[in-house]
Amino acid sequence: MRICDVFREGQWRFCRCRDRHIQSLVIEIRTFQLTLTDGRDEVLWKRGANDYGTKFNSSETWDQIMVHKETVLWSKIVWFPQGVPRFAFITWLAVKDRLATGHRSRRWGQPQHCLYCGEPDETRDHLFFVCPYTFTLWLKMVGNLFGTDPDPDWDITLSTVLSRSYDRLTFILLRLVLQVTIYFIWREHNDRKHGTSNKTVEQLANLIDKIVRNRISCTKYTLNPRLQGLMIRWFAAHDTAH
Ligand SMILES: [Zn+2]
Repeated sequence: MRICDVFREGQWRFCRCRDRHIQSLVIEIRTFQLTLTDGRDEVLWKRGANDYGTKFNSSETWDQIMVHKETVLWSKIVWFPQGVPRFAFITWLAVKDRLATGHRSRRWGQPQHCLYCGEPDETRDHLFFVCPYTFTLWLKMVGNLFGTDPDPDWDITLSTVLSRSYDRLTFILLRLVLQVTIYFIWREHNDRKHGTSNKTVEQLANLIDKIVRNRISCTKYTLNPRLQGLMIRWFAAHDTAH
């Protein structure tokens, strides 16, 4: 439809329509005062508040249609420069409570107890870290990085990480070990579901420790003044355990 078909002699002229959505659209359109010239109709892309252009630019258009939301608090836990995407992704699913836990699969008629301890209601909060198996693992992995006794409660864990003021190295390691621990608890959970694994807390702890140390090495921390001491801090965090 062209604008000159529905706008004549300074008036909007729409056909009657029963559809409520179209009716409300028509009401919206009528509020626009319009002066037509003899020019041709032209499609323009909005680029800014009062800025239109004939060329389509995906980033400008995306910026126009996306809803600008405030950065969510937990984003600091999920995304940080020393993180690893596959660990961040599983952590993000955990934060959103989107992992396919037994509690969620109950809705599809497939209830499943906790594969670590047998608790009948396997929820996200149970896995991270109310479950005796995963909490024992978490205590081992986090060492003294928390600066306080870790709590099995999920919300308390996240809010502690976000609200206490940690030095740079501790804050990096705390988020890294949280993500790697969540990732391997979830991976072991899936392996147990398929009957392909039955690792002890100790075996899983060694694996997580190795992955974290690999990641620390990959940051080239010895060359970066802001990261120097990262490995020493990791070892210091677990001194009491050895
Ligand atoms: Zn359990």
